[in-house]
Amino acid sequence: MASAGDTATPRQHHACEQGIPSRYARLLEDSRACACVSVCPSDRALEDVNTTGAVPARGLTVSLIDMFFNSWGSDMAVDLGTANTLVSVRGRGIVLIEPSVVAVEKDTKRVLAVGIEAKRMLGRTPGSIVAIRPLKDGVIADFEVTEAMLRYFINKTRVKRFPWQPKPRVVVCVPSGVTEVEKRAVFEATMQAGARQAFLIEEPMAAAIGAGLPIQEPTGNMVVDIGGGTTEVAVISLGGIVVAQSIRIGGDEFDEAIVAHVKREYNVLIGERTAEEMKFEIGSAFPLPEELDVEIRGRDLQTGLPRTLTISSEEVRTAVEEPTKAIVQAVKATLEETPPELSGDVMEFGIVLTGGGALLKGLDERIKSETGIPVHVSENALINVVLGSAMALEEIDVLKKVLTVSH
Ligand code: ADP
Ligand code: MG
Repeated sequence: MASAGDTATPRQHHACEQGIPSRYARLLEDSRACACVSVCPSDRALEDVNTTGAVPARGLTVSLIDMFFNSWGSDMAVDLGTANTLVSVRGRGIVLIEPSVVAVEKDTKRVLAVGIEAKRMLGRTPGSIVAIRPLKDGVIADFEVTEAMLRYFINKTRVKRFPWQPKPRVVVCVPSGVTEVEKRAVFEATMQAGARQAFLIEEPMAAAIGAGLPIQEPTGNMVVDIGGGTTEVAVISLGGIVVAQSIRIGGDEFDEAIVAHVKREYNVLIGERTAEEMKFEIGSAFPLPEELDVEIRGRDLQTGLPRTLTISSEEVRTAVEEPTKAIVQAVKATLEETPPELSGDVMEFGIVLTGGGALLKGLDERIKSETGIPVHVSENALINVVLGSAMALEEIDVLKKVLTVSH
């Protein structure tokens, strides 16, 4: 999926100028991409990542031990998304993409399945089993379930080549709306899952790094990450988030709006999965060059029987107008709060859209038409966050400012 606004300036190349290796862009296809990264000689940053102080006296020893650990430890990056969790392992690339879903026994809260397996159980299980999306609205609704999910994904992907292999360092990306208490909880869950050291990175920052934006330069970079449960808008400059907005509206609300529309207009009930498929196929936020139709099947609420309907893309666009407006509004509100010099940069270089929701047809055009700013849909919209998190861990010395570290 490429681009949007005709004047948008994709700035992926700036990443290389920044010392952020472009090899990460190939993380998914070329699993050797990470394997060839040399261990940073000044990995003392692991020891004093939150300080800018001098190298500790035992720096050289620490460095050597860490060099050893880091080269064998299979460091990991985890994108703990509201809809999907992605895991990237150093030297192997992205090894896991699974829905952030956990199936639990209702009464005992015992975890029965996680990820793809849990999603498969949806709708096919007795009433005593429920499927939970623990991060649905961008906050950790159920800590125990989140912890179980994180532990499962880390253990599933952790490579154990040798019995004496050191534990990995793990960076976890969390939605920026999570509280300090929830952050601490994620740290603890990561450590319990077998990490040697845990780091957190905020979603807009990871998304911006993954999209190749020159986040360390003194220029304004705007990134809009549209996930399943949240949309995060941020302006980043000099390695920090200058202004940010996080709203609890994402791709899920589009699905819900489609379900509600079909029910209201046709008295037909459709499932959220059908609604999501409709969104993929004919959903849009701006008039399409050629409007489309799709045939769907649902249950007629009057007769109780299955019924087939033909729905047009114009209709779906009207149905999803509310969440679309909310996203546009969040972008406008963030622009209003952006210092003038930085908003000038955003005007010039454009807004980068990322996350699965960015793939909605015409969303880029819509934002462009309402703000007058060029908009560019990131090429790796679905994987930018995990790519960015992995890069932050690799380039820990350069990017230490963006990570929060566990002790
Ligand atoms: P999260 O980071 O919250 O886990 P993702 O970035 O994986 O979320 O995005 C998931 C959302 O993106 C879902 O709501 C999904 O329906 C939506 N999505 C994925 N692909 C498309 C597409 N082609 N068109 C519209 N929406 C999409
Ligand atoms: Mg995400």
